[in-house]
Amino acid sequence: MRLILLGPPGAGKGTQAEHIVSHYEIPQLSTGDMLRAAVAAQTALGLQVKDIMARGDLVSDDIVIGIISERISASDCANGFILDGFPRNVPQAKALDALLIEKNIALDAVIELVVDTEILVDRILQRAAQSSEARDDDTPEAIRHRIQVQQPAPVATHYGEEGILQKIDGMLSIEEVSTQISTILDKI
Ligand code: ADP
Repeated sequence: MRLILLGPPGAGKGTQAEHIVSHYEIPQLSTGDMLRAAVAAQTALGLQVKDIMARGDLVSDDIVIGIISERISASDCANGFILDGFPRNVPQAKALDALLIEKNIALDAVIELVVDTEILVDRILQRAAQSSEARDDDTPEAIRHRIQVQQPAPVATHYGEEGILQKIDGMLSIEEVSTQISTILDKI
């Protein structure tokens, strides 16, 4: 099963991806996690993206497309994967389309978690307060910036046009969202 979880920062993509990983035994590919690992390891890539990420800006499309292209070719992705945080804009979505065609595979679903902008800042601040690892981009300014520049609407429209977009109310409880996702995935 190959799917994309779409939603603004703080929508609950990571939380829901964890449920899907354990239930369907496919890996979660989070570009945010991979980039944070590169920053923590101080690799050349990490040094290149550190400040961009701390501001809440998007890193360049070439970087994330390169990361994903390599990652989905790994053997643990043979039965599928969940993309979390990628694609984040239409050029990335188009690059992914081309990549999947090249690999002769297709997406099964694109699930968008829809959440009102006003509640996202509070959610992210709450997550930050409960987390043991501080994120450079969890300042109120960077959070607001992330929400502003990382709205998933254009990407959702792209997949809507491809006819594979499913929207879920991301303001329901974690369990309810999870149940709705399972209902969609069990039909695949
Ligand atoms: P959030 O928890 O806010 O949804 P992520 O952990 O997914 O954020 O991503 C953190 C940061 O990593 C983003 O703010 C951005 O700087 C960078 N990033 C992650 N995925 C992408 C992407 N697909 N394109 C560009 N930048 C990305």
